[in-house]
Amino acid sequence: MSRTMRGAVLYGPGDVRFEERDLPRIVEPTDAVIRVSATCVCGSDLWPYRGISPVAQPTPMGHEYCGIVEEVGHAVASIRPGQFVIGSFFASDNTCPHCTAGYQTSCQHKEVVSGAQAGRLRVPLADGTLVATPDLPSDELIPSLLTLSDVMGTGWFAAVAADVKPGVTVAVVGDGAVGLLGVLSARLMGADRIVAMSRHPSRQKLAREFGATDVVSERGDGGVARVKELTKGVGADAVLECVGTHDAMMQAICSTRPGGSVGYVGVPHGVELDGQELFFAHVHLHGGPTQIRRRHD
Ligand SMILES: [Zn+2]
Repeated sequence: MSRTMRGAVLYGPGDVRFEERDLPRIVEPTDAVIRVSATCVCGSDLWPYRGISPVAQPTPMGHEYCGIVEEVGHAVASIRPGQFVIGSFFASDNTCPHCTAGYQTSCQHKEVVSGAQAGRLRVPLADGTLVATPDLPSDELIPSLLTLSDVMGTGWFAAVAADVKPGVTVAVVGDGAVGLLGVLSARLMGADRIVAMSRHPSRQKLAREFGATDVVSERGDGGVARVKELTKGVGADAVLECVGTHDAMMQAICSTRPGGSVGYVGVPHGVELDGQELFFAHVHLHGGPTQIRRRHD
């Protein structure tokens, strides 16, 4: 049997190579190795690809994945070979105090999972990181299940962090995949009004399909003014920041009513908050990497 596989490796800005890599194997007794059924490119892969985040060394790409378990270490109890599993980009034990509190991506034993854009993937802490589906899914279902590995969970966490509840008014800054799934999450959580902030007609259309009741195409101060206008000068109860730039963060904070909440999930690049502005905004801020393994029942 071949001991290598093909996988995507980022060498530098704009330089991705699909090349031979060693097949992953069980290293720790808590590991699993899976045969990847589907993987994809994350918005956060684009920062180093575009040269905005430095690439120190050739780096195997990919942290969104689902697939079939091939092998598990002897200490793995709940995951078995043959199961279809979905995993997180951070491995977590799901037993430490932070995991128990629902913050698995702050696990005391967290490990980065990377290199999923390949045929096989090693997943540490398999019991705490992977979720098995009850049956083998159909091929048509696999792309949807893949979204649970990151992007759907991230949109969902943005809505959780912004404290979306039935009846509230929500604004979503960012119309990429995360922002659009933030719209969908807010609808599933019972938001009454959902303002999607988007300039792209095709994404505006999707946002409406996912539950947006209003679309605001202005950005910055103009965007804030439109949200205020739509809410009788009050501001949104919950704002989801799904971009990660300074302007997007300020747009989110300024669109939120006093006492409202911003859930921020865009990986920050150049975000700097002014203490005075924050002090007088009276806005709750919560966010960070999503909790793929948090239970929401
Ligand atoms: Zn933990």
